[in-house]
Amino acid sequence: MKKIQMVDLNGQYEGIKKEVNDSIAEIMETSAFINGPYVHAFQKELQEYLGVKHVIPCANGTDALQICMMGLGLQPGDEVITADFTFAATVEVIALLNLTPVLVDVEPDTFNIDVAAIERAITPKTKAIVPVHLFGQCANMDAIMDLAKKHNLYVIEDNAQAIGATYTSKNGKKQKAGTIGHVASTSFFPSKNLGCYGDGGAIFTNDDELAHTIRGIVNHGMYERYYHDVVGVNSRLDSIQAAVLKAKLPKLDGYNKQRWQSAAKYTKAFQGQEHIVVPKITCACGMGQNTCDCHVFHQYTLRILNGKRDDLVKHLNENNVPCGVYYPVPLHKQKAYADSRYNEADFPVTNQLVKEVISLPMHTELDDEQIAFITKLVIDFVNQ
Ligand SMILES: *Cc1c(COP(=O)(O)O)cnc(C)c1O
Repeated sequence: MKKIQMVDLNGQYEGIKKEVNDSIAEIMETSAFINGPYVHAFQKELQEYLGVKHVIPCANGTDALQICMMGLGLQPGDEVITADFTFAATVEVIALLNLTPVLVDVEPDTFNIDVAAIERAITPKTKAIVPVHLFGQCANMDAIMDLAKKHNLYVIEDNAQAIGATYTSKNGKKQKAGTIGHVASTSFFPSKNLGCYGDGGAIFTNDDELAHTIRGIVNHGMYERYYHDVVGVNSRLDSIQAAVLKAKLPKLDGYNKQRWQSAAKYTKAFQGQEHIVVPKITCACGMGQNTCDCHVFHQYTLRILNGKRDDLVKHLNENNVPCGVYYPVPLHKQKAYADSRYNEADFPVTNQLVKEVISLPMHTELDDEQIAFITKLVIDFVNQ
């Protein structure tokens, strides 16, 4: 059996090697390292793929989130509601801008932000909601957009984990993750579903005026060279990363399909296990033979219900099966983000999930033998 890896990027590289190597050589020859033709070409192709008016590339997903908030003109003291169960980048940039983070609980079956909890947290100071499409599936965007409209709030989608996912609204309308809210951020960190070979990120929006504002912010607040109208940042996608992304983008749907198929095999193997909860798919497709793009499985995350999660992590590692606990501590309990305003009774789900979740190896190169080995190890251990 091939060695099992949590993330395996080499197989993808083999499939795009010539194109990537040729374009990197070309960039070396032309010295177009920053904002060269590859950055523009990738930006246009991603706009077309997503069906969004504007893609603004930047240096990483954390910058992308921060720049979204700067672009919307959020001011110190404005409250921004986001999920307690996510990667810290989401809350970090809220705090950095002196906005007030308001963490709320998530749903136990999808791991995504709980809309009823958002509604309870809205105050006159609330200005924005940041749903995170965690592990590759969109949050409940119909309900979030309705709530935002009712209370006149911005919606910033943190789409670092769900690029390529499709959201189907109640009325049947299909939209790509990251094109539904007022603005969205994504990350091209190497292990994300569309990853480059370093750092990278982007902002998406359909709003022309906001796109213009943001294009200045990423470039030191300049709209005309050496005239600085607003305080900006320096956040650029370099040409080498853009060349890698341009080579991968036409394959993204195929990559996501491979992830889906591995996820379906995991789910099938875990069917009927009383101590194991498999990830829930919110669309009507179920998890049968066919693939679907409603979930792009950035992570395949189980809940282990009988208190054996930590021992299972050890057991898998002892058997050379890597795994991850995303995330082991609720954000409201992290030293940097703890606040006396928070009440433990408001976070029953996150407090439970951090003890139960385990993410299994998930990438485009998993084979049946590896999946059978992993699922047998998990099932045998959880039931012993
Ligand atoms: C990866 C990630 C980010 C940050 O992206 P970077 O490119 O690493 O800065 C933000 N939010 C979520 C949910 C992520 O998974």
